Amino acid sequence: MKASLRQHKLLLMITLFFSIITAAAGVLIALVLQKVIDAALQGDRGLFREILVISVVYLLLLGVMGLIYNLCSKALIRNLTLSLRERVFRGIFSRKAEAFAASNTADYLSALTNDIKQLEDQYIQPLLQVMQNVVVFAASVLVLLYISPLVTAILAGCMVLIFIIPSLFGTALQTKQSAVSAQMSIFTIRLKDLLSGFEVIKSYAMGTYAGHKFQTENRQAADTRFAADRLFALNESVSQTLAILTQFAVVFVAAYLIITGNLSAGSLVALVQLSGGFVGPVLVIMENLPKIKGVRPVVERIDALSAQHHDTPAEQLDPQFNVALSANHLQFGYTPGQPVLKDVSLTLDKGKKYALAGPSGCGKSTLVKLLTGYYDRYEGTVELDGTNLKQLDTSRLQELVSTIHQNVYMFDSDIHFNICLHEEFSAEQLEEVLHTSGIHKFLEQTNGLQSPVGENGSQLSGGQRQRIAVARALIRNKPILILDEGTSAIDMQTAYEIEGRLLALEDLTLITITHNMNELMLGRYDEIIYMEEGRIAERGSLHELLAYGGRFHDFYTQKEAVTPSNEQQQPLLQEIDAV
Ligand code: ADP
Repeated sequence: MKASLRQHKLLLMITLFFSIITAAAGVLIALVLQKVIDAALQGDRGLFREILVISVVYLLLLGVMGLIYNLCSKALIRNLTLSLRERVFRGIFSRKAEAFAASNTADYLSALTNDIKQLEDQYIQPLLQVMQNVVVFAASVLVLLYISPLVTAILAGCMVLIFIIPSLFGTALQTKQSAVSAQMSIFTIRLKDLLSGFEVIKSYAMGTYAGHKFQTENRQAADTRFAADRLFALNESVSQTLAILTQFAVVFVAAYLIITGNLSAGSLVALVQLSGGFVGPVLVIMENLPKIKGVRPVVERIDALSAQHHDTPAEQLDPQFNVALSANHLQFGYTPGQPVLKDVSLTLDKGKKYALAGPSGCGKSTLVKLLTGYYDRYEGTVELDGTNLKQLDTSRLQELVSTIHQNVYMFDSDIHFNICLHEEFSAEQLEEVLHTSGIHKFLEQTNGLQSPVGENGSQLSGGQRQRIAVARALIRNKPILILDEGTSAIDMQTAYEIEGRLLALEDLTLITITHNMNELMLGRYDEIIYMEEGRIAERGSLHELLAYGGRFHDFYTQKEAVTPSNEQQQPLLQEIDAV
C-alpha cells in the first residue's frame, strides 16, 4: 500500500494542494455572508455591490478548483487501485508453485476484487476526505477565532466529546472489517467451487443442494457485512447527534451575545456557517478514521500478497544440461512426519529414455517434481550436470524441461494460442508438431487452428486437450521431456505414435510415468525405474527386470492382464515405426 502511495506521490501532492485550496476557500463563504448581511442591515449599497462582484469571482474560482480537485482525486483512486492490483498480481506470480498452491485460487480472486474494492472504499477515499477536512477544520478555527473566541472555546469543548466517543468503536470495527474480508474470501471460494462443479451438479441432480449451499454462503457473507455496517451506523449516528448538539450550542450562545450587544447579526450567520465548517469536518474525520483503522488487516493481506518471492541464491548459475540429471538421498513429504520420498538416489543420463513405473501414490509424480525444481524444501540434493539445483536460476531451469500432465490447462482462446502460448514459431515448426502430436487428425473436423477451445478446453475432448499439450511441449524443443501419463486420454494408436516418435528423438531425455505395461513399448526404454512406497525398488531394462523376477515382475504381470496384448499391438507398433 505504502509503495503504491509512494509511486503516485506527485499526484497525491497535487490532489492535496487542490484539496487544501478548495477547503480553505470554502470556509471564506462565512466571511462573505457576514459582510453581505452587515452591509444590507447598514444599507451600504457601495459595499454591497463590491461584495457581489467579489462573490461572483470567488464562486467561479471555487468551482474551477473544486473540479480540479475532484478530477485529481478520481485519477488518484484509479492509479492507486491499478497499481495495487498490479502489485498483487505480480506478487502472486512471483510465488513458487508450492507457495501458490497453498492458497485457493478463489482466495486470490477475492483479494484482487473484493479486497481492493474495500481498500478503495474504506481506505483511499476516507484518507482523501480526512486530509481535506483537516484543512477545512483548521481554516474554520482561524476564522472562528477572528469572529468570536468564546464560541470557538465552546465548540472546542463539544469537539472533545465528538473525538472521544467514536474512538471507542475503533477496535471493534477493525475486527468486523477483518471478518468481512475473510468471509468474502470464503464466499468467492465456495462460489468458484459451485460454478466449476456445474457439470457434476447437473448430472447428479444436485441443484437443490447447490441452491441451499449458495444461499447459506450468500447469507453468511451478507450477515457479516451487515454486522460491520451496523457498527458503522451506530458510530455515524452518535457522531451526527453530537454534531447537531454542537450547532445548537453555537446558535444559543451567539443569540445570547446578540441580546447582550456583543455580536452583529452578520456574525451570527457567519458563526452558524462556520460551526458547520468546524463540526462537519470533525464528523467526517471521526467517521473515516475508524474505517482507515478497521481496514488495516486488509492492507496487511494485500501487502503480503504483493510481496515479491524471488530466489536470491548467493550465485544464480545458468542451468546446463549436457551430461546428467541426478538425485542424491532425496527425502520429501508434503506434511511433516509423512515422508513421500525416502532416500531416493538416481542418475538420468542425457539422451536416454526412462519409464517410471509403480503403484498409484508411490511417489512417481512427486519425484519428477523434485527433479524439475517444483519444490525446494527437500533433504538431499538434485544436481544438473553436477551443479546443485538450488544454485541455479530457477526461472531459466524451465527452459530445459517440458512436462505433459494428464490434466492440462487450456486458456480460453484458440488452438493456435494454446500451442504457441505467446511465442512465435515458424510455419514448419508448427506443421511438424501438429503432425507429431496427432492434432492434424482432428483439425479437419474443426475450423482449423483458429477454433476456440472454450473455458479450460471445454469444447475439446480429453484426448484432444492432451494432444495440444503434447504439441505445446514439443514445439519448444527442450532437452528434457516429462510425460506424466500425458497421453492417457488419447486413443491407443495416437498415443503409441506419439510415444514412439518421442523415443526416436536421439537428444531428448525422456521420463515417462506410465501405467501401460506393454512389453514392446517398455522394451524400447533404456531403463525402467520401478518405485514402491517412496523408494526405488528396482531399476534396469525390461529384459533385466523380468529376468530378475522381483517386485516389478509381479507388478508387470498383474498390470499386463489389463493392458492390450502384444499380439493386438504388434501391427500397430510396426505401423508406427514405419511413420
Ligand atoms: P504417484 O505419481 O506415484 O501416483 P504422487 O507422487 O502423486 O504419486 O503422490 C504420492 C503421495 O503424495 C500420495 O500419497 C499423495 O496423496 C501425496 N500427495 C501428492 N501430491 C500432494 C499434495 N500436493 N499435497 C499433499 N499430498 C500430496
